[in-house]
Amino acid sequence: SQSRRIVSPAATDEEIQFEASLRPKRLDDFTGQAKVKELLSVTIEAARRRGEAMDHVLLIGPPGLGKTTLANIVSQELDVPFDLTSGPMLQKKLDLTGILSNIRNRQVFFIDEIHRLLPDIEEVLYSALEDFRVDIVIGQGPGARTHSLPIAHFTGVGATTRQGLLSAPLRGRFGLILYLKHYDVPEMQKIVHRTASLLGTPIDTDAAEEVARRSRGTPRIANRLLRRVRDYAQVRAEGHVDLKVARMALDLLEVDRFGLDEIDKKIMLTVLEKYGGGPVGLSTIAASTDEEPDTIEEVYEPYLMQLGFLDRTPRGRMATERAFEYFNVPRRPMG
Ligand code: ADP
Repeated sequence: SQSRRIVSPAATDEEIQFEASLRPKRLDDFTGQAKVKELLSVTIEAARRRGEAMDHVLLIGPPGLGKTTLANIVSQELDVPFDLTSGPMLQKKLDLTGILSNIRNRQVFFIDEIHRLLPDIEEVLYSALEDFRVDIVIGQGPGARTHSLPIAHFTGVGATTRQGLLSAPLRGRFGLILYLKHYDVPEMQKIVHRTASLLGTPIDTDAAEEVARRSRGTPRIANRLLRRVRDYAQVRAEGHVDLKVARMALDLLEVDRFGLDEIDKKIMLTVLEKYGGGPVGLSTIAASTDEEPDTIEEVYEPYLMQLGFLDRTPRGRMATERAFEYFNVPRRPMG
């Protein structure tokens, strides 16, 4: 169900090309995340001056906030090649040793979903990141020998949405650990304007703000909504996106004014109506909504918490006063 949601932060296969065409190429062109940008900019500049590989970087944050984009930017700013893989793509040790043996000096090697590496593959990565060496077994049976071979000094960039699932030794291999946060509305608005201009779609300021507001602080979602809004404008309003057109298109997509969709509402109504505002356990919410507990925790809750609708407490999830008001649920009398 995740990938079919219009407000899912995960990219669909169809979106991959579209997204690549929208990626900012330089740090200056990347909106928001000021602290992350400043730290990266200093690290990039230092590596450039020394003419060495840059320190390894770990990017932590929810999907769709720009981790892949930043990894690409690092390679462009360093003017070095970029290769990518992901945790689930590496199934055998040899997959990774193969890539690492061919890696080029100072290049960026991006590993997405690094928390999903298999344990023995993760170990290969330890020595590669730390000592720029890989162990290769030559020969078979009793005559087999392990050789430790040097590889090029590269810059590893890891990305994860789940820092809790990252092992301490892996984390310890990264010199720079950067946290990406959801974007605020003005930042999102800037991103919407940028995308609209790349798509050649005229959009009014208040219309861009409307798209920004409903995009859950996630550029990927903003770009997706904008594409749908643009279609709507082309067919129903001669291509120009004003506030009315934006609202009609977004309402048609059933994205409400906070970017909430049916599943968010189901979660909130479970807590509010079925459990009188909580506390409710995560697994109970999962069972009532038919979603995976992991997905609820990783995808839905952060945004509901950011909006101030939900609190995580030691006893379980609690709805806030604001949530009772927004969803128009009367508080049950205590006792
Ligand atoms: P992640 O790797 O964190 O899932 P991506 O880097 O793939 O996210 O970003 C998803 C989409 O959002 C891309 O098309 C990217 O161009 C766009 N995007 C992300 N962050 C920004 C930003 N700060 N400014 C402009 N566009 C952005």
